[in-house]
Amino acid sequence: MFKTEPRANLQLVNKYNKIKVVNIIREFGPVSRAGISPKANISSPTVTRIVRDLIKEHLVIDLGLGPSADGGGRPPLLLDFNAKGNFVIGIDLGTTQTVGILSDLGGGVISEIKIPTNVQSGQKSVMEQTRKVILDLISNSSIDQSRTIRGIGIGVAGLIDRQQQMLRFSPDFGWHDVDVREEIEEGIPYPIVFDNVTRVMVMGELCYGAGRNYRNFICVNIGYGIGAGIVVDKHLLLGERGMAGEFGHITLVKNGGPQCDCGNSGCLEALSSGHGIARAARSRIEQGEKSILKDMVFGRYDNITAELVFKAAHEDDHLAKSVVQEAAEYIGIGISTLINVFNTQAIVIGGGVAGAGQMLFDIIKDTVKQRALPQSAEGVDILPSKFGTRATVMGAIALVLHEILKLNMAFDSNNSNANSRPFFKIRPSKTVF
Ligand SMILES: [Zn+2]
Repeated sequence: MFKTEPRANLQLVNKYNKIKVVNIIREFGPVSRAGISPKANISSPTVTRIVRDLIKEHLVIDLGLGPSADGGGRPPLLLDFNAKGNFVIGIDLGTTQTVGILSDLGGGVISEIKIPTNVQSGQKSVMEQTRKVILDLISNSSIDQSRTIRGIGIGVAGLIDRQQQMLRFSPDFGWHDVDVREEIEEGIPYPIVFDNVTRVMVMGELCYGAGRNYRNFICVNIGYGIGAGIVVDKHLLLGERGMAGEFGHITLVKNGGPQCDCGNSGCLEALSSGHGIARAARSRIEQGEKSILKDMVFGRYDNITAELVFKAAHEDDHLAKSVVQEAAEYIGIGISTLINVFNTQAIVIGGGVAGAGQMLFDIIKDTVKQRALPQSAEGVDILPSKFGTRATVMGAIALVLHEILKLNMAFDSNNSNANSRPFFKIRPSKTVF
């Protein structure tokens, strides 16, 4: 792109080359300088200069001499991505619990904190709890903090305006217009980045999971709410304002469907999310249907959860099985639409409800077989997320990795794309790259 731009900013080209080199080292390492040059299509002296900078920034390590090529000759000096020498904190800010993980950039977990999220206590209080989880992870860590923690990634449910870096609306939390970063950053000396929980999950799959095997795939997150992250040619589809993928709010029942947190009714999320499944079971029991769920919650129907419904279904409870069947069929109908529209290679399903396992996947697959165009659905893999309940927090870690590896692009004031507002807030003494 830069060759055809006569006035292309040299600085921007340098940054672009740097990102290219670090990504090649990450993907193909250990690799020699001579091995990088043709892959990056950059001259050897430029590669040498970039590598020198990356070593200085502790993002790349020099492994020393590797084995000689088959024909003999001088053994090459090998380089690798310094995954284990850089740390990151990932946070899954959910409505049920908040999970924080301190990990290295390779996804290796060092420590983990889990606390229940007290949504009732209000938005400020939840933000404060989250800040405390981050501070605890930092203070519990024995690593050299000033040098090696690269950033904090947070996945949160809701519509996020990436240009303005605001959580515009979270139906799950009932929040409007929250600047998550501003509310959490006090006393935290590292860059903070946050995004929608499902898109964060996709970043995890792109860096460490399904993204390694597919160019086109869609992550469907089925937890308390439902969302989708759509990957086209290894790129996450953001949409005009970064709000693409609100799969949970497609209408599947025109009249008389259950009320959705978004204000509409008959949404997929109202029918098939964890919240929707629990509510459907509760309402049918209240209408007099028999179920072992009554005994499982000692008659306190408010305590019925999706997890218990799946448990009862596994124990052959008629009502629970019928609720699961209905919810999974709607998910299958929604996924059939995604397959028809995007002609994707794979659907990766994560979130708490996905933990229900084979029973859920069987119904979804049967429904897709019945509903999607056979030509589109042929060969499409439908599989669980690689990381199970840790999918979001692994994604939050990947989100920071992603921002580090393209960071300087976002900082460049001449880079006038739609997302030109720096994704990380920069403090003069703590630049990340
Ligand atoms: Zn809705």
